[in-house]
Order: sequence, then structure tokens, then C-alpha cells
Amino acid sequence: MPSPLLSPRNPSLAVNRRSVLAGLGAVLAAIALGGCSTARGAGSQGASPQDGSQAYSSSTFAFDTYCTFKVYGDEKAPAKLAAACSRYDALFDLYKDDSDIARINAAGGAPTTVDSATVDIVKQALTFCSASDGLFDITIGAVSTLWNFDDGTRPTDEEIAAALPHVGWRTVSVDEGANTVTLADPEAKLDLGAIAKGYIADRLYNLLQNETDAQAAVISLGGNIIYFGEKPGGGTWNTGIRNPNDPGGSKTVGTAHVHGGSVVTSGLYERTFTQDGVTYWHILDPRTGMPVQTDVVSDTIVCASSTQADALSTTLFVAGSEHGVQIADGYDDTAAYFIKQDGSTAESSRWQDMTNFETA
Ligand code: ADP
Ligand code: MG
Repeated sequence: MPSPLLSPRNPSLAVNRRSVLAGLGAVLAAIALGGCSTARGAGSQGASPQDGSQAYSSSTFAFDTYCTFKVYGDEKAPAKLAAACSRYDALFDLYKDDSDIARINAAGGAPTTVDSATVDIVKQALTFCSASDGLFDITIGAVSTLWNFDDGTRPTDEEIAAALPHVGWRTVSVDEGANTVTLADPEAKLDLGAIAKGYIADRLYNLLQNETDAQAAVISLGGNIIYFGEKPGGGTWNTGIRNPNDPGGSKTVGTAHVHGGSVVTSGLYERTFTQDGVTYWHILDPRTGMPVQTDVVSDTIVCASSTQADALSTTLFVAGSEHGVQIADGYDDTAAYFIKQDGSTAESSRWQDMTNFETA
């Protein structure tokens, strides 16, 4: 039997279906304050900010999580964003047999021709695998697919031991000219759950820029937030960082104020289950295949790129707060904030400057 893992103060939140992108949390870890619609489905609603530009909001359920869009100045934009979400969901969902990722995983070591977006996300993900020395590893799929944090399935130690040799990002190669991705190890499996929402948020940002008349927008993919343009009426975009002691509620530990860019949080409380008194969570240690033993309950990354923010939110979680601060400080214009198991917090050197963080 494994040693009992550290228990977060609020274990086991029920989530009703298997993660689409394995890791797109059902509990939002960061909240765009005053920036999200609660409307569901394709409906949209208008609101008038101080400068008179119209806001159109809608939300959709994709990647097993709530995606909300609030767009100023273009009524048609939210529907375009929702359509793009569906398209990326269909490409990156490792549990859908005809997705690019499922086809790569089933290719038995042969090159798989994929969409250029898949080539791009895998290529970008590999830079974070390399930079983190494998703390972040998109071939975590060999073990992550053994776990099911929704129905509470814990693989046996033997199953984990058998899968672990197939975790290793160096097995992945990308041919941009041919638009192929290859797993040299036929038993390896890609899982983009730690980076997909961030990557998609960046693509949605580009869509707003190139294909809409949007003046400003807030996009939240399960709490993975990106801000587009200047906030209508002036001031900063404000993001509440969820209090891990109140995971289902709306309490925050404080508010980050930014003029743009992305705010992404990874939290222990997002996908967990408890079995025989042991709590298991969805961020895994690629060295053990087990939920990572860490001093961190949640970490929040602020930087321009949502891809980077998402990859780093997972990386720094695995690294722990001390090493995590060093990693964050190694990136330009990037800041990180940690809430620790013991209730204390830690922050990287640019955190306060970049967020003017206001404790609740
Ligand atoms: P969330 O998307 O729930 O906010 P993360 O961005 O931290 O959380 O992503 C967690 C997901 O990433 C897991 O569900 C799994 O799919 C995948 N994953 C887990 N551990 C790792 C790891 N060490 N490296 C890369 N991906 C991971
Ligand atoms: Mg992540």
C-alpha cells in the first residue's frame, strides 16, 4: 500500500463525468470578477459598461468545464468562440477515438498526420517538458489514463509500475513540414490536459483579434482566464484567487489586478477522490505515477501567454513552492503565487508588481 497522501482540507468534490481533456477542472480556481456570464448554452445577453460599448456574454460546456465569454463590441463573437472551443475539443480529447490525440496514441509508433494546431500545441508543450526537466510531461497519459478522478478509480501499484516506463517526453517527435506527430514508444500516450485550456485560450484570443470586431473580452475556460484589450471604462481586469478552504464557494484569498494577459490557477481541490482515508488528486508526479507530494494547495500564474501560464501552473505544482518560485523567476514577465498546505503563501519576485495583489 502507498503511504497516505497529504489530505487537502476539503477533499472529494463530486464531478459527474470523465474529464474530456483529463484535467479541465470542474471547480473554477480563479474567478474573473465582474467578467463572467452565468448564462448557459448559446444564449447571449447584453450589458452596457460605462464607455457605452455593448457587452455580449455567453457560456458553453466544453472540455468538461464551464467556458464563459464576455465580449465587448461584437455580438457574433461569443458564438465564434464557442464553435472554436468545440473544434479544439474534438482535436485534443484523448478519450474521443477520432481525435488527433487518440489517433496518435493508437498509432503503434507510426507517424500520425494531424491538424496544424495539434502539431503546434505538441511542439509548444515539449518546450515546457524540456525546460522543467520532465516535471511537466505530456506523456503522463500512460499513467493518467489508469486513474479516474470522477468515479474514484485508483490503479494498483502493479499497474502504475507497468505503465511508468512509458512516461517520458523524449519519445515524442513532431514534423512540422509533414504535420505529423510520432510516439517512438508504441505504449506511450499523450495527455494534454495540463496545457490544452491555456493553448485554446491563446487561440481564442487570436480569433478575437483577427476575425472579430471585439474591443475587449474576458475568456474563462474553467477558470483559465485570458483578458483581451483594455477594460472598458478603464482600470484593471480583476481576478479573484479562490480560497482552497472554500472550493465550492465564492470566497477568495485576494484579487490580482492586471491590464491584460492570462491568469491561470492549478488547485489540489479541483479533481480529487478519497478512498480508504487516502485522498488522491489529478496532478501526477511523472517519476512515480502517483498524485504529486507537494507543499502546494494551489498556485496561480500570471503572464501574457495562457499556454505558458497553464503549463507553468502544473509544473510549479509538481516542483513545490520553493523550486517553483525559482522556475517562475526564470521566465520573463511571469509571476506566481502559491497557497501552501500549512496555510502560508509564497510568491515569486514579480508577483506584487505584476498584479498589485490585494489580500481579501
Ligand atoms: P486543471 O486543468 O485541472 O486546472 P492542470 O492545468 O494542472 O489542472 O492540469 C492537470 C491535468 O494535466 C491532469 O488532469 C492530467 O491530465 C495532466 N497532468 C497531470 N500531471 C501532469 C504532469 N506532471 N505533467 C503534465 N500533465 C499532467
Ligand atoms: Mg496547467
